[in-house]
Amino acid sequence: MPVARILFTLPLPEPFDYTVPEGMALAPGAYVAAPVGPYDRLGMVVEVLGDQAGAGRKLKPVSAVYDVPPMGAPMREFLGWAAKYTVTHPGMILSMALRARDGLLPSPVETRYRATGAAPPRLTPPRQKALAAAEGGGLMSAAELAEAAGVSTAVVRGLAETGALEAVDVETDPPYPAPDVSRAGALLTAEQAGAANELAAAIRAGGYTAFLLDGVTGSGKTEVYFEAIAETLKADPEAQVLVLLPEIALTQAILTRFEARFGAAPAPWHSGMNPKERRRSWREAVHGRARIVIGARSALFLPYRNLKLIIVDEEHDTSFKQEDGVSYHARDLAVMRAKLEEARIILASATPALETAVNAEAGRYTRLKLSARPGAARLPDIDLVDLRRAPPERGRWLSPVLVRGMVETLGAGEQSLLFLNRRGYAPLVICKACGERLKSPGTENWLTEHRYTGRLVCHVTGYSIPKPANCPHCGAADSLMGVGPGVERVAEEVRALLPEARIEIFSSDTAAGGEATRSLVERMQQGEIDVLIGTQIVAKGHNFPNLTLVGVVDADSGLKGGDLRAGERTYQLLSQVAGRAGRAERPGRALVQTWAPDNPAMQALAANDRDGYLRIEREVRAELGLPPFGRLAGLILSAPAPDLVDRVALEIAAAAPNGEGVEIYGPAPAPLSVIRGRHRRRFLIKSPRTVDLSAYMTAWTARLKLPGPVRLSVDIDPYSFL
Ligand code: ADP
Repeated sequence: MPVARILFTLPLPEPFDYTVPEGMALAPGAYVAAPVGPYDRLGMVVEVLGDQAGAGRKLKPVSAVYDVPPMGAPMREFLGWAAKYTVTHPGMILSMALRARDGLLPSPVETRYRATGAAPPRLTPPRQKALAAAEGGGLMSAAELAEAAGVSTAVVRGLAETGALEAVDVETDPPYPAPDVSRAGALLTAEQAGAANELAAAIRAGGYTAFLLDGVTGSGKTEVYFEAIAETLKADPEAQVLVLLPEIALTQAILTRFEARFGAAPAPWHSGMNPKERRRSWREAVHGRARIVIGARSALFLPYRNLKLIIVDEEHDTSFKQEDGVSYHARDLAVMRAKLEEARIILASATPALETAVNAEAGRYTRLKLSARPGAARLPDIDLVDLRRAPPERGRWLSPVLVRGMVETLGAGEQSLLFLNRRGYAPLVICKACGERLKSPGTENWLTEHRYTGRLVCHVTGYSIPKPANCPHCGAADSLMGVGPGVERVAEEVRALLPEARIEIFSSDTAAGGEATRSLVERMQQGEIDVLIGTQIVAKGHNFPNLTLVGVVDADSGLKGGDLRAGERTYQLLSQVAGRAGRAERPGRALVQTWAPDNPAMQALAANDRDGYLRIEREVRAELGLPPFGRLAGLILSAPAPDLVDRVALEIAAAAPNGEGVEIYGPAPAPLSVIRGRHRRRFLIKSPRTVDLSAYMTAWTARLKLPGPVRLSVDIDPYSFL
């Protein structure tokens, strides 16, 4: 009897063997159900062994196989590679690939009704109402029709029996409409056309190629990759395209733009989808019918049937790095996936990550450059406002220079955007009487004051309480005071300065849902807002034609905190924010408030010298052996009791294998030393590029026997050191 080796969506180190029942055809990649303990579990066939393989072994049979195209060999290889690279069990990667298991089944079917025109033998008043509602109503479910007519569903069913209504079975999650590749895109500028042609040539030639689409904000990178998408879909009628975007940039605006270009919206994949939308996207991607999928980082793990092009837009964005559960960097993994699929990959950015820039210089990626905005739009002028020389008044956050700029902008009938990456009113609350800083219970995180809701909120754990009247520490009345600025406080200042201006806040608190965001963006686009005050949520993807002034309230906030990419991130974020200004005919400018105008990131920003900045950054990282010139891994331990986690951390340190050139720092308390009652310790591991650091981490951690309450996680290429 043949034997199938099955990998389950469980944290198990190995696949298990099962016999293949008579009449069941199984190939590698098939999705199956098979018993693990008392239950059937979802798994995938890794290998099928020959007829005699089951002889003499007591194996259970496979229970069922799903009628879905099996996972292709390149994806299976990717899965194994990703597991090794991220130091996780392959089953955990498989479970990321199978995140919508309902999608394994065909779409559920629902009965809908439409009028046939035939008259029922007996036309009672309720029947009359139901027929009137059905006419012109299209296909409606019994419940919809009954509700529209104000009758019971029995009336609807009764009419169907008489033949006056026709019952039609409809798939509840049908395939997405196909993109129309015959539509013409924008008339490209010469520079854009050059880039599009080079991409088209690589697409027609086939095979793996990687591109860096390096273009200033608003230079038409999206228009150019639209051409690459169209070319891919035309070249192969079964080809699929994946567009990865930072979650925050996955807005209605970009979906609408795709729809305008291809006549149909792409299949979406992001964390805000409900189970029904999720299973639909998954099913369509796996059957190969969804030709364009646009998603956040986890969309990389879907088992596409015929993936031919991957686009990673805003490739420098750190939200491509996942830190919960399996930690991975979707951009880096996407390059490997493209290689294994023999597909093309385009990394697009105005401010490429140093890692990407170095790969482009080394010739591993072909650089396509877009140096200008099309038409009259040009890049904004960026001026640093030296807060040491021109500070705001006491208790205020906007310097006279910025205020003047806002007054002029308002006078000219144009819009301003103030950027401050801090939600709420004040990032810290202290007691004037006893000096206590209010923290989230069981942690070291400060609580942020939110005035609109009257609450104190922990942005790390989500803990929230109404602002107390008395200090919880000393009991003093009315002594709690918010310190430092958040967007709400800046809005308060602007209201006092420009009482006639229409002012709004754009943060995840004011634009929580898709609808709220849409409405805010629309009002901004239509000029119904004069001053928008926003967190990083405004930095990406929006086109506000009448926005001509960007003010950065606190450019230095991102530079604090010892993160190796702090300077790079600040440069990227601020140039992106500044890039929101002057996207149409009117020129834009940006005023960047800083206490550190001599910092290289600030200097480069003002000089619009991105490459100069990358050169400095590169030298520093090369000298220190930091990525991409060396490798890093994080090892994070946590336990409810501090002495337990400390003891285990020392044991783990002692168990570290020898590795040529491997340096281990720690254990040390993590900067976020307590989260949800768990005490955390970190190691940072550094090695030369030549060391396979994933293999080293596997060798180290696989042998460890940890006490039950201790949790350990490995983070290869860490981006957060908290
Ligand atoms: P990027 O992706 O580089 O930020 P976009 O592709 O979003 O740039 O282009 C910025 C704006 O300019 C968009 O509104 C886009 O439609 C417009 N645009 C870009 N290229 C062209 C072109 N060749 N013709 C007309 N409009 C263009």
